[in-house]
Amino acid sequence: MSDVLDYKCPSCDGAIKFDSTSQKMKCPYCGNVFDVDTIREYNERRQKIKDTGNQPQATWKEYDKNSGNGDWTKGEKINYYVCQNCGGELMTDPQTVASACPYCGSPVVLTDRVEGSLKPDFVIPFKYDKDTAKEKLKEFIKGKFLLPGSFKTENHLDSIKGIYVPFWLFDCNVDADMTFKTTRHTHWSDSKYDYVKTDYFSVWRKGKVGFDKVPVDGSSRMQDEYMEAMEPFNYTQLVNFGTEYLAGYAADKYDVDAKQCEPRADARIKTSTIAAFRDTVQGYDSCITDRCQIDLHPGEVHYALLPVWMLGSTYRGKQYMFAMNGQTGKFIGNLPVDMVKFFLLLITIFVGVSAIGILILKLMGMI
Ligand SMILES: [Zn+2]
Ligand SMILES: [Zn+2]
Repeated sequence: MSDVLDYKCPSCDGAIKFDSTSQKMKCPYCGNVFDVDTIREYNERRQKIKDTGNQPQATWKEYDKNSGNGDWTKGEKINYYVCQNCGGELMTDPQTVASACPYCGSPVVLTDRVEGSLKPDFVIPFKYDKDTAKEKLKEFIKGKFLLPGSFKTENHLDSIKGIYVPFWLFDCNVDADMTFKTTRHTHWSDSKYDYVKTDYFSVWRKGKVGFDKVPVDGSSRMQDEYMEAMEPFNYTQLVNFGTEYLAGYAADKYDVDAKQCEPRADARIKTSTIAAFRDTVQGYDSCITDRCQIDLHPGEVHYALLPVWMLGSTYRGKQYMFAMNGQTGKFIGNLPVDMVKFFLLLITIFVGVSAIGILILKLMGMI
């Protein structure tokens, strides 16, 4: 039986041994007994799963001027601007005049450098207008206790701009092969004792998943927290890009290229695959991922623009930025905090906590 000497026990991972008395496999560590066939099948399957749980990588098709809509052509009706402060690059249709950078508020200057900047493949058009963004800001401010009262009265919007944020969308098929270790408990009692019986299972899942348009943002100027807080976007509303969607808006040119975004796409796909497979393992009291092989097939990349309203506001010399998802209306931002109100709140909490403390000490007979 030397060929089974290295076999692992499914319950505790210990080296399981052949027991000549029972003619079965018996674990010297946890005492569990299994059929020889069960142990062979369990160990063979696990060995076949090459554990790539660490970091699977796809071979992504390079995204360049030969991909998707390719590069802008000379004479294409588009205006191109560069921010003099942060270097941000913006494009608009020729009728829309861009004057200030939506991120830092600095002046932008028109350039003729259009080539080499790639034309987007898809766009999600704006669903909400400027007035809605202003209304949402009012709603956002309403009822915020820690907000200085004067913020509402003194505050005026410096700028409000509709901007398309550049995104890379990754498509890829995945083959996955995973085992999970699960348990199920049964409880019962008699007049003397409570009993718990734990059954251990090795659950195997193998299958394919198709990922369509996994988004990774391609702008370093747009703060990641802002973008993540504004998600999700509904990607079923993507349409083919046309310059007419830029009328009245500015589009930010990507400054993080598709190549640099690949690791983030790989990681998102890996996490979602594991979650999707794990979701199919139901009816157990515990479940942990045991071995996990994820093979990412070569994938394709697209370039898309997503709509965001950016609102800039100054209060007592400090800039506050707000943003609204231009498709769903989700509004986010940071507000100033009234320190007097803040300390009043802290004192109230402190007094409350002290009162409870005194009560407890009294109840315990200590004071
Ligand atoms: Zn064992
Ligand atoms: Zn700027």
